[in-house]
Amino acid sequence: MCPFTDMYITAGVQGNGNKLHLGTMANDIRGLQSGIRYDYYAPCKMKCLRIYPESGQSMWQSENKVRFANGRVDYATIMIAHDDSLNCYVGQIIEQGSKWANMGTKGNATGVHCHIQISQSRDTTWKKNNYGNYCFNNEYDTDACYFVDDTNVINGLGGNWKKTTDIKLETSPITSDKKVDQILFKGSKVKFNGIFKVDIIKSPITSNLFGYTKITGCTFQDYKTGKAKDYHWIPTQPFMECDKNGTITKDQKLTGGTSFVKNDTIYTVEEIDSKTNSAKLNINGKSIWVFSDCLYEISNS
Ligand SMILES: [Zn+2]
Repeated sequence: MCPFTDMYITAGVQGNGNKLHLGTMANDIRGLQSGIRYDYYAPCKMKCLRIYPESGQSMWQSENKVRFANGRVDYATIMIAHDDSLNCYVGQIIEQGSKWANMGTKGNATGVHCHIQISQSRDTTWKKNNYGNYCFNNEYDTDACYFVDDTNVINGLGGNWKKTTDIKLETSPITSDKKVDQILFKGSKVKFNGIFKVDIIKSPITSNLFGYTKITGCTFQDYKTGKAKDYHWIPTQPFMECDKNGTITKDQKLTGGTSFVKNDTIYTVEEIDSKTNSAKLNINGKSIWVFSDCLYEISNS
């Protein structure tokens, strides 16, 4: 839900009135009257991930997948800025609709407002773009993110504002002419979502296999101590080594415990295990169960 009771957008995306928004999907919002530090409210149940006190800035992530105004169902990762009091803490969990923060001027702000950027993804990468402005991967404009059922839109900058009743939630298997909704079924086309840190490399290195607990759920320790029957080695070949911001490295030599990898290959989901929320993929001839949190649905045809 939209965090604001009264929403007056003073600057929208792509530098519409604000150079600091170039190349991002940032919005600046003030309330009913200018200059007042209005409170605003949690759009969904969220956890505080990072705090930047100098700019009154904090990063949050939804505790569950949420429904966005463009129909997508995925995690929300959100940055807000200019809160003068910033009385939140890393690890704090707040319920949907409870007080979140207030509009302010802390950091590089002209006039009292809230600066907000929303990513429809679990990826927390916060990177500088070509204009020198920070943004997430998978950022969307705010009208594609929140519903305005309970918001008085004073200046919506021509956005396509939707209420929850405008968007139907898909509950049955989806066919090719319907929207991608991030609910995986057998046949869904998916990509790996984000950047992963390599836990361990199988020796000898020529075996071209690596382990990553966050993808498969089984730790090498559990395997070594006999708690797990099998360790889920993943073929290295379709993964590319990158730095923590996703830039491909030159040497492509993986090191256990330090290397980051990403994978842009499109896979077809072969099976779903709803108990563990995993999808079976064929990765270079090997069947691997992958937590669906690590996957991003791109189409269902
Ligand atoms: Zn701004």
